[in-house]
Amino acid sequence: MQTVIRTIISDELRRRFVHARRVLVLTGAGVSAESGVPTFRGGGNTAVWKGMPFDVISSAQMVQRDLPAVWEWFDYRREMLKALEPNPAHQAIAQWQNRFEQFTLVTQNIDGLHHRAGSRDVIELHGSIWRARCITCHAAAEQAGKCELCFVVGTSAVVYPAAAIPEIARAAGAYVCEVNPEPTPLSNLCDEVIQGRAGEVLPILGIQIAVNG
Ligand code: NAD
Repeated sequence: MQTVIRTIISDELRRRFVHARRVLVLTGAGVSAESGVPTFRGGGNTAVWKGMPFDVISSAQMVQRDLPAVWEWFDYRREMLKALEPNPAHQAIAQWQNRFEQFTLVTQNIDGLHHRAGSRDVIELHGSIWRARCITCHAAAEQAGKCELCFVVGTSAVVYPAAAIPEIARAAGAYVCEVNPEPTPLSNLCDEVIQGRAGEVLPILGIQIAVNG
């Protein structure tokens, strides 16, 4: 595995990883896939709870139609998440926060696994399943405009405002690198696409650059 990954990390990314001072990482459901959390679109129209697919139960329409059912669904998810652990991708990202002068982690996930891996000051765009509150993305957009290196990990990049973050970073001159096993609508915008699973690529990326950079 290590040999395969080594061939796909460019010299340009190595150089930028070593010298960057301001780094932003945007994560989506895919970063938690290897912990056993189903992704949103990965399941397609598969019923995940009481015969309903993900996008029906978690929709704004469902909140209006049957709020008690939405609470019940989130109780079910909290129970499921209790048994799951952060994976090597969450752990690698938690280590990166001590490596760069300014490090911003923005997640669309609500599972709390970045916190559990030791990440501090996580910007949770969609809130957290463990707390009933939401925050806006303005903090996140400001950091995106300042970073030099931006990683986009495990997101299909179709949900705004998160999808705008790599665009803002790129427009401000940052090098944007996607880590995802599949191409996404964002792939063409990125300077570099590393096709692979987050839990395999991210830990190796840090180690390799420390060794070979
Ligand atoms: P998505 O389900 O739309 O896309 C997941 C992406 O992850 C896909 O592009 C897929 O190719 C990629 N992926 C799958 N396995 C991967 C791996 N091992 N490594 C790297 N990438 C991998 O997810 P999204 O773009 O985050 O949007 C979904 C929305 O649903 C978000 O708003 C999010 O809040 C919510 N959601 C959250 C969780 C969670 O908290 N863990 C889970 C499901 C959905």
